Amino acid sequence: MATDIKSDKLATANDLSKMSYGNFINGKWVKSVTGKTFTSYNPANLNLSLGTFASSDITDVNNAVEAANNAFKSWRKTPAPVRAEIILKAGYLLETRKEEIAQIMVQEMGKVIKEARGDVQEAIDMAKYMAGEGRRLTGQTVPSELPNKFAMCVRSPMGVVGVITPWNFPIAIPSWKIFPALVSGNTVVIKPASDTPLCAIKFVEILAEAGIPDGVINLVTGSGSVVGMGLVDHPLVRAISITGSTDIGSRVAGRCGELMKKISCELGGKNAICVMDDADMELALEGALWGAFGTAGQRCTATSRIIVHEKIYKEFCHEFKAITSSLKIGNGLNPDVAIGPVINKEQLHSINKYVEIGKKEGATLLYGGNILNTGEFANGCFHEPTIFSDVNSKMRIAQEEIFGPVTAIMPVKNFAQAIEVANSTEFGLSLSMYTQNVNKAFSAIEELESGIVYINAPTIGAEIQLPFGGIKKTGNGHREAGTTAIEQFTEWKTVYIDYSGRLQKAQIDSFEDLEN
Ligand code: NAP
Repeated sequence: MATDIKSDKLATANDLSKMSYGNFINGKWVKSVTGKTFTSYNPANLNLSLGTFASSDITDVNNAVEAANNAFKSWRKTPAPVRAEIILKAGYLLETRKEEIAQIMVQEMGKVIKEARGDVQEAIDMAKYMAGEGRRLTGQTVPSELPNKFAMCVRSPMGVVGVITPWNFPIAIPSWKIFPALVSGNTVVIKPASDTPLCAIKFVEILAEAGIPDGVINLVTGSGSVVGMGLVDHPLVRAISITGSTDIGSRVAGRCGELMKKISCELGGKNAICVMDDADMELALEGALWGAFGTAGQRCTATSRIIVHEKIYKEFCHEFKAITSSLKIGNGLNPDVAIGPVINKEQLHSINKYVEIGKKEGATLLYGGNILNTGEFANGCFHEPTIFSDVNSKMRIAQEEIFGPVTAIMPVKNFAQAIEVANSTEFGLSLSMYTQNVNKAFSAIEELESGIVYINAPTIGAEIQLPFGGIKKTGNGHREAGTTAIEQFTEWKTVYIDYSGRLQKAQIDSFEDLEN
């Protein structure tokens, strides 16, 4: 079904628009039973498409889950180191096809080419890391309170796992979920974001090429409410892993709660960099620029607030405006471009709506604020990088996730107020402190309420060998990446082996009684 674009011939928009893709079920590309399709558009130029994709319904979901459930029987029995070999091979294939996939990603969701390569690299790193996990998947052994009795905990795979992913890291995020799920012995059905189906298809193609058995990985494209919720509701789906907005994540988590399913959520953020008066100013400016406007601000970890000590506030605002004005906006395939388009028209208008809200709330529009829609920007979804200053924590632009190239500079009197303001949102993903003072740095690590804390670095830039995730409304206590990734996709099984040859009663028989 998916006629491949070979890696020796880099994708061009013209090649891509002619393609039509189906679902991947039981090792085959198949059409949706609906016969309906949707189109994925290039946000840098909405006249260009990335092809048409299956607009699936619940029958497609059922077929995929059944295939995954059948495949689970033998996949769970496949030794973990053998499962890991396939994941490692997928990592090497991703390496071979890195440039091709990165170029598709730029065209499908707009991030600039350097960042797209980084997105693919994250998946390569995750493949290698999770392949190593195939020879660990550690359990626990602890002493028994009774003699001649052995006690241990082992990990069991769960069965069919439903994976629901967003568009902003269209290769990395599927890899954070799918590789640990597979190495743990689960089978997977993925429903990718409708804005980036092609990236997910490329990811699944690679797993197929790496030799994943039929039914172990399945992909169904279509809407969140039909395909996504269909997965959540399916009785054979034992766990759901979703990354997306807090609104959708909480709906999915609520339903999983009713159905008693394991659910891990990675959701929205309202991240902040704090810049103290003793900070290395140049470093802080550079970090804030990258944190606020990398991926056009469309990262869950984007720096959407910059909390600055009043002693350096004026200077910081002045310098930050100056460096922001030097950023080149355009098509992310141009290596000189720093800010690409945002994902779609709806998001573009939602971002600009927040600019209007900020103005009405009395914040100072220091730079930008406009949609770009003339000349080279005429057919795309481009928004100027935008800076508000004089923002306080009561304003909506300081509380709500905007998910675009908009950041708010907030003055504070001292370190204590910086921490208070940083912690003042309902989110808790990534917070950062710029200071040269070691005491302040360690206090910040202790006081900042977030799953990720950076010192003298921006809020973005996580590494895959460490846990990733947030607190408060950013998540529900799970962590992706690192060794903690495995927790989402395994159940603990506690095993007692009594080799005494008699009935020994825990908490009732004492060691002394049993000795006599
Ligand atoms: P989204 O609109 O919440 O969508 C996320 C996924 O959920 C998509 O695949 C979507 O499908 C699906 N979905 C939509 N409605 C659903 C429903 N009723 N039931 C089940 N699934 C449903 O988020 P997004 O716009 O793609 O991504 C941006 C958001 O993700 C931001 O809030 C960002 O902060 C967050 N994010 C968080 C992290 C993290 O690790 N914390 C990382 C990256 C992104 P459709 O595309 O078909 O609607």
